[in-house]
Amino acid sequence: MNKLRKIAQLIEPQLVIEGAGVLLRRSIAPRRSNEFDPFLLFDHFAFNDPNEGPIRGFPMHPHRGIETVTYMLEGFVRHRDSLENQGTIDSGDVQWMTSGRGILHEEMPQRGPDGNIYGFQLWVNLPSHLKMSPPRYQEVSDQTIPLVEKEGIKIRLVAGTVDGVSGPVTEIAAAPLYMDVQLAPGTDWTLPTPEGHTVVAYVFEGEAVFSDETVSSVTMIKYEDGDHVQVKTENSPVRFMLMAGAPFKEPIVPYGPFVMNTEEEIYQTLADLRAGTFVK
Ligand code: FE
Repeated sequence: MNKLRKIAQLIEPQLVIEGAGVLLRRSIAPRRSNEFDPFLLFDHFAFNDPNEGPIRGFPMHPHRGIETVTYMLEGFVRHRDSLENQGTIDSGDVQWMTSGRGILHEEMPQRGPDGNIYGFQLWVNLPSHLKMSPPRYQEVSDQTIPLVEKEGIKIRLVAGTVDGVSGPVTEIAAAPLYMDVQLAPGTDWTLPTPEGHTVVAYVFEGEAVFSDETVSSVTMIKYEDGDHVQVKTENSPVRFMLMAGAPFKEPIVPYGPFVMNTEEEIYQTLADLRAGTFVK
């Protein structure tokens, strides 16, 4: 490891309203420029103020051509879909949903015992040859997510390998690393990341020195290329989601909950929805 990834860009999440009026912080949104390839979107749900009113969710909606990854830290999400799956994504759980050619689902966040909802949704792209693949779920419960623990370092590993430990989500085209990292004050942490892969970190608690810049929550960091990242805490702890993935380097056409490679494929998607053949 001799090529430290420097910070390319710091992104302040923007408040947006999605679904049936859900307020969330968005730091990555799907765009044709595809600058976060293979990642398309990163949303942060954080409700803890009763004055925000009733929690509205995401009523039945379609997806095609992507994977949606939901990770809850507080509260839970009730979900059901067109494949007759239904269940709950509880605190600490992850749902990695590969929409492939099409799924219709409903996602309804609910407050936890302390009245809070806190979680993230990441969208990962699919390469063209998998966009029309059969839909698939990987549901990971809190207890089955390995905790990689060293002095001052706590990592909940969802996907990828760290220190010889592998996360439970596998066989994802983007070969992702996805982890929840907590560092105590006075910790120095280094993680090897494959050169050429896209690496981002979403800092949601505390602050730390990332490469050589102090970054405070809440901020999305996009890294330059390199073979490792380094994070050092000083007097305060830090917590962040770290994501790395292999870019597909294909043109994309995002349209709402669909991300395809061409406009024709988007028209076909809308035609399939109208014809009732979207979900086979
Ligand atoms: Fe969805």
